Amino acid sequence: MNFNKALENIKVYEAGKPIELVVREFGINDKDIVKLASNENPKGCSPLVQRAVSDIVAKMALYPDDSMMKLKEGLSSHFNIAQNEVIIGAGSDQIIEFAIHAKASSTQTILMNSVTFAMYEVYAAHVGANIVRTKSREHNLEEFYALYLEHKPSIIFICTPNNPTGDATKREELLLFLDKIDSDTLVVVDGAYMEYGMYKDEAYAITPSALIKKYDNVLYLGTFSKAYGLGGMRTGYGIAQEGIINALYKLRPPFNITTLSLEAASVALEDQAFVKDSMELNASEMKRYESFADENSMEYIESYTNFITLLLGTAKNSTDIASALLRRGMIVRDLSGYGLNAIRVTVGTQKQNSRFFELCTEILKG
Ligand SMILES: *Cc1c(COP(=O)(O)O)cnc(C)c1O
Repeated sequence: MNFNKALENIKVYEAGKPIELVVREFGINDKDIVKLASNENPKGCSPLVQRAVSDIVAKMALYPDDSMMKLKEGLSSHFNIAQNEVIIGAGSDQIIEFAIHAKASSTQTILMNSVTFAMYEVYAAHVGANIVRTKSREHNLEEFYALYLEHKPSIIFICTPNNPTGDATKREELLLFLDKIDSDTLVVVDGAYMEYGMYKDEAYAITPSALIKKYDNVLYLGTFSKAYGLGGMRTGYGIAQEGIINALYKLRPPFNITTLSLEAASVALEDQAFVKDSMELNASEMKRYESFADENSMEYIESYTNFITLLLGTAKNSTDIASALLRRGMIVRDLSGYGLNAIRVTVGTQKQNSRFFELCTEILKG
């Protein structure tokens, strides 16, 4: 059968290996498997969410509230924005999809970092858009600006803090960059890890309200999958001026968010103490990763997220290291597909991280 030609350029996205697969492939007991591959919150989610969700199970026969009023109210007061300045997606992934479908086509260009979130490219391929990437591994906004002048992209993706490298862009730098971009170019600021970045250093804190007050061409993305520990609930959001939100709404399928997800996200947003505890755990465990890397003469990229990218140099191969870890029940991300000889490790619980150090030491010696 012949399919839409655009599909020929799409590689199926390889998500972090689920634990179930490792159980089946390697016959390892699931309690001996540690997954540090998808930047999930090792603390799980707020206990308030667990209670709220079990209370709501009785309502599952009914379609969800498609106005998403409760979650929109929550986001609106949390971020100090109007309710018509937000759209909720099945993960912020879905908002990326809407944004690309709304603003790009096969005659247009999308500008992004050399190494960045893989889904931008997947959705760009849906519409056959041309992709231009910077050369630097980390976001370099001067390079972005030169390519912007040269290629006149219809969308620019700035992922800060960036996945899978963990580096971030300073607020001042981003604002100076945005000042120079014409208002018909959509700039997507993907803040999936912003809670971590702003906890580490205020100079990297970028709030959606500050962006959209000043710029009518910026779409800020956030998610409940990382800091809030709700990856399984598939809930994210986009914040922009009303004109952008209205355009994205035309692409939104009705009932794109389940009743359980809406409730979970609303309650999670109210428990900021849980988020703060998660940030503290992450920061102290991140220090252990940095010490581990230093002790083993391993380079790493300073991280503003809940993962660390360990650079393996020329002596070791990231694919070999990742598969050696996998055989021992430790799931991490091999970044060879991104052109980096590196592994990305999600910062887990103290115990999970200790296990990583133990296994990694064993493999590096061998
Ligand atoms: C995880 C992630 C997202 C979105 O995740 P969802 O689970 O779809 O909300 C978006 N951007 C980046 C950079 C991410 O790492």
